[in-house]
Amino acid sequence: MTDQQIAKDVSLKHISTIAEKFGIDPQEIEMYGKFKAKLPLKAIDRTKAEKSNLILVSAISPTPAGEGKTTMSIGLSEGLNRLGKKTTVVLREPSLGPVFGIKGGATGGGYSQVLPMEDINLHFTGDFAAIEKAHNLLAAIIDNNIQSKTNSLLLDPRTIGWKRVMDMNDRSLRHVIVGLGGTTSGVPRETGFDITAASEIMAILCLAKNLTDLKERLGNIFVGYTYDKKPIYAKDLKAEGAMAALLKDAIKPNLVQTIEGNPAIIHGGPFANIAQGTNSVIATLMGMTHSDYTVTEAGFGFDLGAEKFFDIKCQSAGLKPKAVVLTTTIRALKYHGGANLKSLTEPNVEALKKGLPNLEKHLENIAKFGMVPVIAINRFVSDTDEEIKAVKELAASKGTRVAVAEVWAKGGAGALELAQHVIDVVESKKSDFKPLYDWTMGVKEKIATIATEIYGAEYVDYTAKAKADLRKISDLGLEALPVCIAKTQKSLSDNPNLLGRPKDFIITVREIEIAVGAGFLIPITGDIMRMPGLPAHPSSEGIDINDEGEITGLF
Ligand code: ADP
Ligand code: MG
Repeated sequence: MTDQQIAKDVSLKHISTIAEKFGIDPQEIEMYGKFKAKLPLKAIDRTKAEKSNLILVSAISPTPAGEGKTTMSIGLSEGLNRLGKKTTVVLREPSLGPVFGIKGGATGGGYSQVLPMEDINLHFTGDFAAIEKAHNLLAAIIDNNIQSKTNSLLLDPRTIGWKRVMDMNDRSLRHVIVGLGGTTSGVPRETGFDITAASEIMAILCLAKNLTDLKERLGNIFVGYTYDKKPIYAKDLKAEGAMAALLKDAIKPNLVQTIEGNPAIIHGGPFANIAQGTNSVIATLMGMTHSDYTVTEAGFGFDLGAEKFFDIKCQSAGLKPKAVVLTTTIRALKYHGGANLKSLTEPNVEALKKGLPNLEKHLENIAKFGMVPVIAINRFVSDTDEEIKAVKELAASKGTRVAVAEVWAKGGAGALELAQHVIDVVESKKSDFKPLYDWTMGVKEKIATIATEIYGAEYVDYTAKAKADLRKISDLGLEALPVCIAKTQKSLSDNPNLLGRPKDFIITVREIEIAVGAGFLIPITGDIMRMPGLPAHPSSEGIDINDEGEITGLF
């Protein structure tokens, strides 16, 4: 059965029923049809939220297909609910790029899904569209200011980094020239488009605590320099009020349901390389306010998503997570052990054992944050007992809890052992979260700490451009911002070809971008794609709709 067929067989509960179960008066929600609703910000209560147990679902270094963090998060929340813990899963919103590209949607899979999957994967409640509009409003204001004779800030167009965004994989928009067509049609300059998930506004919305904080962050967006080298921010263009107004609904978290009829909150979707890769702070606090357990996910492997989750999101929002679930797949371990991508469904204990050091490094990294992990083996039909035994033996040798989770095949029923481990870790109070570094450390020191401690690098090298960027950061007085390192997810190193647990490598920082609005610096360590392209046969070829309005081909 496809994910969509499984989803279709579920009889959905009305969203007001889900709101009630979540603990919010149905009168207070804003319904978007029968199965989606926006939750009011006033339903967040910090004191209550602090009593909730926040669980982070992360993963080992992934294969290109993804190792099932979203699926695991949903299944675990169903399992915890079955064990009598009131639990809410809080996730990112899917981007249309992957929906029509290779990867597909982001609503889980098999019997662990959030619903209605068609709606969540396509437009949902319009948050991405609002972010796109707010982003492009600033772009329009910038170009208008360059054009204007009476209101000009004398911005040097060559220093402007702010592009336009669109939620589509469309490589032909990566580099464009705007302003062609003569004096009435703008000033020609080179710019481009990023995908909406890569917008700084996405990162901002997901770190904002309320509308005032949102506005302040929007005003702090760095635009560029004037001809006499004065920095210009969005607030100098008086842009933040209108931008925030466009985001008035997008800032509210979205309530939906899981296959087993439990509440799920889905809100925001920043990239995990150039941004923090996790849903909004507001959504997390909303989930925590109304649940004993709150399960959330951070993009890509632990080295990327979880490090940022802990050092940026948790620090910025004052969150103290209680446990980490490390999603592990037999296929990814075999891949790290040198098995060919195409042969990952064939039994290969030898390759698997060679890949285990990747898992070990992630376990060591979890401990560096004071956190206690539970390994969740995301079971695939092709996994053999012998392969699973090898992972369990490694876990036993490290004294780490491990559970085979059959969330994809069985939903919450397949997550009971995992859920019990998570409860035990939380109740043992053994996790004592501490960030890896202090924001007040120097920029190079922060980067070096992550690179050596988490990635396992020898040292960090800087190109001439990166050194110039360091001086710019110091001139702008931004050294106390945390760092959000953009790196490949395929390897612990910055070289996608170094699988397993790479050793004796250096990390090269090519440039450092500043996202003052979001509140972090972005050291770039490789080619980071902000506007992906579609493959030769995009998954859009298989998507269709009939006269009854039924959509097929989404996954
Ligand atoms: P991530 O969040 O780590 O990127 P997802 O949970 O989105 O990963 O899963 C990626 C894809 O793999 C989805 O299409 C999902 O349905 C599928 N998937 C996840 N777990 C399993 C499994 N155990 N068996 C088969 N397919 C799975
Ligand atoms: Mg995911």
